Amino acid sequence: MEEATSGEPNEEFRKIKKGLLQSDELLQYILETSVYPREPQPLKEIRDATAHHQRKLMLTTPDAGQLMVLLLKLINAKKTIEIGVFTGYSLLLTALSIPDDGKIIAIDIDREAFELGYPIIEKAGVQHKIDFIEAPGLEVLDRLLEDPNNEDSFDYVFVDADKDNYINYHEKLMRLVKIGGLILYDNTLWFGTVALPNCLIPEKMKYDRDHIIEFNKSLSNDSRIQISQVPVGDGLTICRRLY
Ligand code: SAM
Ligand code: CA
Repeated sequence: MEEATSGEPNEEFRKIKKGLLQSDELLQYILETSVYPREPQPLKEIRDATAHHQRKLMLTTPDAGQLMVLLLKLINAKKTIEIGVFTGYSLLLTALSIPDDGKIIAIDIDREAFELGYPIIEKAGVQHKIDFIEAPGLEVLDRLLEDPNNEDSFDYVFVDADKDNYINYHEKLMRLVKIGGLILYDNTLWFGTVALPNCLIPEKMKYDRDHIIEFNKSLSNDSRIQISQVPVGDGLTICRRLY
């Protein structure tokens, strides 16, 4: 790509240099070409049902969802956990991807948003795979760890809740997930703020941003897992337990 003669990059060059995360046009291209045409109807219905929700930005993005479905299928996930359900987009995609006798322990401190998505989950005929628990995530993981049968037994976990506890979730999940199993952490790029200087961060984003930065460092230093931080959605870190 050529630069303009003034020495300033021309507009087209600038757009390409912006990169995947910052190019709205490229994201739209991915969604319209590869994601929306293949998105299962019930997932689209949850997106539509959430469109006017006050906290609609919390919804898992469909391109991230498509990757999660692929991972679930690749590892033949059956026994799973989700922390942070909201209206149920990621929960439903998991329920649609695991076998009929598969299970999801779905945890959220607030059931209200889940009630919005539940009729769609029921209509899709996958509600029998879901055990919804209204409680704080850490508390439920501690309860699961009381039963030795749960140790090293889960195939897949999606964590999408309180960011300041990701480090605490990780230690417990490393005991619950089997070797070769996956733990996915959402929002690990925190709207891109992880790479911005402190002075540019809006005050209300600082607390979670600092925790996410610490968390990303700790995952990078954790030899028990293989990782890939994927710039999809708001950043999705995929961890595979090695030992
Ligand atoms: N995974 C959802 C989806 O696909 O649309 C989005 C989850 S939303 C970003 C985060 C959710 O985490 C909220 O519904 C919130 O109530 C829940 N949450 C916050 N703190 C929590 C905690 N300590 N334990 C369990 N859930 C929590
Ligand atoms: Ca999220």
